[in-house]
Amino acid sequence: MGKLWIVGAGPGAADLITVRGRELIARADAILYAGSLVSTEHLTFAPPGCEIADSSGMTLEEMLQWLGERIRRMEIVVRLQTGDPSLYGALTELTTPLRQQGVVIEVIPGVSSAFAAAATAIESLTLPEVTQTVILTRTEGRTPMPEGEQLRHLAAHGATLCIFLSATLLGKVTQELYQAGWSEDQPVLVVHKASWPGEEKIIRGRLADIAQQCKEARIGSQAMIITGPALEASQRMDNPVSRLYAPEFSHQFRKSGPSSP
Ligand code: SAH
Repeated sequence: MGKLWIVGAGPGAADLITVRGRELIARADAILYAGSLVSTEHLTFAPPGCEIADSSGMTLEEMLQWLGERIRRMEIVVRLQTGDPSLYGALTELTTPLRQQGVVIEVIPGVSSAFAAAATAIESLTLPEVTQTVILTRTEGRTPMPEGEQLRHLAAHGATLCIFLSATLLGKVTQELYQAGWSEDQPVLVVHKASWPGEEKIIRGRLADIAQQCKEARIGSQAMIITGPALEASQRMDNPVSRLYAPEFSHQFRKSGPSSP
């Protein structure tokens, strides 16, 4: 019996997969990839004879069958999915039945779209003394949110929010943020297809106009919404600086020196 490797493909650009992920693709006997969000460019690195299928039209049952059948007769079977497999990737649904059948599984992490979106926009999600917390979440669509995790509750913390799966629900997102007391001029960043060559779009707005702006830019799914008090900090001059690099701050790798005047 072979092994199942669940590989995070990264946010889109084919060279934003990990080296380990790329090497597994290059050795794979079979690859089941999430065609809706994974670039087919990754598949050009698969060896000749590798069996490849797109899971976007499959049910969970069909995916389990496809994988299970190949794991029984092949050595390296790869499930290639978008971003990092631990976020909204149905990892538990996929791995539980296979592990019960004795299948050995290893997960290779990937660059999440939350981080690709922040990178593209040159934004830091944390800022000293402003927010030290990032909440990765989504808004309620067809999938209900567990009690206490509605956006208005999470937003009450005043931390950075990276909101997945919600680009078509921006009206609802803004309403919830207003309910949490956020102001109309709170900056909001929306990145569509972060890192996808030629397809990436960056929309910057305020709570008051971001929904309209995205509508005008025809942003559909595949977009990351980021908002919070750290956003657009580079445009403010009075940001607190990280203690880590302060001259008087000693740590394991640097002894403190005299403070500069
Ligand atoms: N595991 C993935 C998330 C899968 S859920 C990850 O770690 O990124 C799918 C959602 O992720 C989309 O609705 C969108 O909100 C976001 N997403 C995925 N790829 C994206 C990209 N390249 N740019 C912006 N958002 C993306």
